[in-house]
Amino acid sequence: MTQYEPVIGLEVHAQLLTKSKLFCRCSVQFGQEPNRRVCPVCLGWPGALPMANREAVRLAVRTALALNCRIVERSIFARKQYFYPDLPKGYQISQYEQPFSEAGFLDIDVDGSPKRAGITRVHMEEDAGKNLHGIGGNSVVDLNRAGTPLVEIVGDPDLCSSAEAAAYLRALRDVLIFIGVNDGNLEEGSFRCDANVSIRPKGQEQFGTRVELKNINSFRFVQRAIDAEVARQTAILDSGGRVVQETRSYDPDRNVTKSLRSKADAHDYRYFPDPDLPPLVIDSAWVDQERAGLPELPAQKRDRYAGELGLTPAAAQTLTSHPAVASFFEQVLQLVDSPVKAANWMQTEVLRGVKTHGLDAQFSVTPAQVAELLQLVERGDISGKQAKEVYAAMEGTERTASQIVEERGMKVVSDEGALRALCQQVIDQNPKGVETYRSGKTGTLGFFVGQVMKLSKGSANPKLVSELLQSLLDGGAS
Ligand code: ADP
Ligand code: MG
Ligand code: ZN
Repeated sequence: MTQYEPVIGLEVHAQLLTKSKLFCRCSVQFGQEPNRRVCPVCLGWPGALPMANREAVRLAVRTALALNCRIVERSIFARKQYFYPDLPKGYQISQYEQPFSEAGFLDIDVDGSPKRAGITRVHMEEDAGKNLHGIGGNSVVDLNRAGTPLVEIVGDPDLCSSAEAAAYLRALRDVLIFIGVNDGNLEEGSFRCDANVSIRPKGQEQFGTRVELKNINSFRFVQRAIDAEVARQTAILDSGGRVVQETRSYDPDRNVTKSLRSKADAHDYRYFPDPDLPPLVIDSAWVDQERAGLPELPAQKRDRYAGELGLTPAAAQTLTSHPAVASFFEQVLQLVDSPVKAANWMQTEVLRGVKTHGLDAQFSVTPAQVAELLQLVERGDISGKQAKEVYAAMEGTERTASQIVEERGMKVVSDEGALRALCQQVIDQNPKGVETYRSGKTGTLGFFVGQVMKLSKGSANPKLVSELLQSLLDGGAS
């Protein structure tokens, strides 16, 4: 049997986080009553004139820059014509022959090995409305979403496995949320992916016929859908058949892809430049300003956390999984200079209490609370074990670690006089043990330390106790 190699190229539609739509002033808020966020422009009434939203252009430029694309100074909005009930104008405004950016790349990590995937282009377009089925027994059209600004990020057919496709999507989503242009929400459809899949005999240069898998709404399903499609195409070629170019959907329950429609070719859409919109001219000084304003990207952050800060790759990965998490961690580091300890606390305690929704994240503590707690441990005021108790008491409150330590009388006793008295008491109570120790079995020191800790109800500074006991026991022998 022939060995085949998958070829995958992803198209991602990401909603730009603007307040208003791409060509009118209507709000883009999610979850509103149907057809309340509409006006003559996004309803497609004849004679209504579109005007490009400057903030949408800015966020699109930011996206293209973060993906290492070249910005094209003069680009064109075109009309892509097709009929569908959710598209009242009869055409979608999109960039086609002259997009505003091209030729970028995205660095991804596939199970520890790096790979650079090409980005063909990033262009702007408007979203369509939504058909809602089964409303009072009818199907209705909600046009609230019509005209919402999107970027379409077209990837080169550079990916060779479903795992690479999933890694690409994750990396892309991370970049978009770190630069604040998109909330990365696959479930609510603000980050949507179409996967183009073909296979070719290993070693063959020419691509096979591709199938487009539409709107897969989770990372897990993307990977499964591609695997299912590769298996289907392999079976077709193995039995001497031909793959048909078409659009298919994925059925997660049966783990198969199903034909939706035959794929239209670009010429079927009769693209032409929108006569109502002038060419989009992007000033190079503005581009430079946007480039300078780009934050540190997640991959750079990971490298810095693992390199400069000395975290493990896994910790660096976890702490850069969401911009709010990275920012929390960095705020802790402004207050205490122990990255590894802070990272451990983030992973074992802080992240358990985090709820993220899109770009928002809610923490059950503040960076200042965590920083102070770490300082108390570092100074030896409380033990690591006590710190966990303090942390639990601090969660969801505004109380500081030292307030809790004080309230609960948890402070480690480091008063030498008080501890020496306790040590002496334990020594006096255990003459046999002292004899054993002094006969050379100094390994029994741990027993004495344990007794003193017990007597102090866990509040004694164990390091100091051990030193005191040693000097008392050794001193007595000489
Ligand atoms: P369309 O706009 O019709 O979807 P494009 O030429 O813009 O077509 O390509 C869309 C996507 O298809 C790109 O992400 C590209 O990488 C991918 N692609 C093109 N040819 C193939 C192929 N033979 N196998 C897999 N993916 C492909
Ligand atoms: Mg396409
Ligand atoms: Zn409108």
